[in-house]
Amino acid sequence: MSRTVARPERRAHGDVDRRRRDVIVVGGGQAGLAIGYFLAQQGRDFTILEAAAAPAAAWRERWESLTLFTPARYSGLPGLAFPGDPARYPVRDEVVAYLTDYAERFALPVAFGRRVRAISRVDDAYVVETPHGAYEADQVVVATGPFQVPFVPPIAAGLNGDIVQCHSSDYRAPRDVAPGVVLVIGGGNTGFQIAQELAGAHEVHLSIGSRQTPLPQRILGRDLFWYLDSTGLIRKTTASRVGRRMQGRDTLIGSRPRMLRRRHGVRLHPRAVGADGATVQFEDGGRVAPATVIWATGFRTDHSWIDVPVFDDAGRVVHERGVTASPGLYFLGLSWMHTRGSALLGWVKDDAEHLAEKISAVAAAAAQPPPPARAQAQETT
Ligand SMILES: Cc1cc2nc3c(=O)[nH]c(=O)nc-3n(C[C@H](O)[C@H](O)[C@H](O)COP(=O)(O)OP(=O)(O)OC[C@H]3O[C@@H](n4cnc5c(N)ncnc54)[C@H](O)[C@@H]3O)c2cc1C
Repeated sequence: MSRTVARPERRAHGDVDRRRRDVIVVGGGQAGLAIGYFLAQQGRDFTILEAAAAPAAAWRERWESLTLFTPARYSGLPGLAFPGDPARYPVRDEVVAYLTDYAERFALPVAFGRRVRAISRVDDAYVVETPHGAYEADQVVVATGPFQVPFVPPIAAGLNGDIVQCHSSDYRAPRDVAPGVVLVIGGGNTGFQIAQELAGAHEVHLSIGSRQTPLPQRILGRDLFWYLDSTGLIRKTTASRVGRRMQGRDTLIGSRPRMLRRRHGVRLHPRAVGADGATVQFEDGGRVAPATVIWATGFRTDHSWIDVPVFDDAGRVVHERGVTASPGLYFLGLSWMHTRGSALLGWVKDDAEHLAEKISAVAAAAAQPPPPARAQAQETT
């Protein structure tokens, strides 16, 4: 399904049949929509290419009861506050509705069902390929998300086929989990929330590989993000000492291992180190024989489809606040791209606005006539 594609098609020069845009944004999640908002304000000719058939694809793939750890006050994109009481914590479907409404309200040119399978640089432009044809653009923003490819550790292969296994991105609700012992592997926010939810009707075990720093959701009647925002910590950059220290420390918001054990009866284990047919073994020698294993073990990024040399040997994007060394190629929404807020609903706008200014400056420079000296030289040759 494809929705608004902003302007009538213009074809690129030459005999190659490509749609031409000033800017292509790859990915129509919150990061893609936030930059779209600023590009629309500039009146730029752009299209947002989105792989999925509907808005808010990443949120639709998360479990149904997911409740934001950011209150509504801190969950809005530029130009539109998240609706309802600003102090409440919205749930997954409200985020889906908000992002859907956002794209429509600002008439953002999102083309759905357009998974970009390659980006390359040809002459001074980028060629962006989708299964429905290619686009050519002067500038490209990659906003394909901080959480892309579900990661499951190799030990999963050691479990018998009759044990149901899924990644947290495939988990939706307790009704889908068969009776019997459930083992959730992964001690981040996702693992804690899923373990707690399932503990209502199952015997649940949670394996915590590395302990994350627990932070209360509310302190003295105020939300954690109120403190992070008003102290300026949420905007500390990776160039600062505090920012670097925060970046190296994963946090568990609103959950504590002891609370999960005492209040919800979840049995806690250290890191899962092996699987042997019917059982999973932990670092301390303990074992569990689960009927279901849910891997809340995170995601990896995959930018292998981008054929532009902006990656280090480990495949990480080399950039400065999303700006790469390849002129006109940008990234947006990466975890800790600039600050803790870079991959959060309420703060992605800061980086989006920064990149929109860069895009505007590059477009303005390209629109300038060539400098006189060069023009003269061309005339005499
Ligand atoms: C469980 C969980 C809970 C979270 N809770 C909160 C919270 O409470 N508050 C908060 O602020 N943040 C939260 N986040 C973090 C963050 O807000 C989300 O991860 C958010 O989805 C990131 O937005 P994004 O636009 O950068 O990426 P995504 O939402 O992942 O969007 C990327 C889009 O790009 C598309 N795409 C990918 N590859 C291609 C391609 N090759 N071509 C075209 N399109 C492509 C995808 O289909 C997707 O729609 C949470 C994250 C997780 C995982």
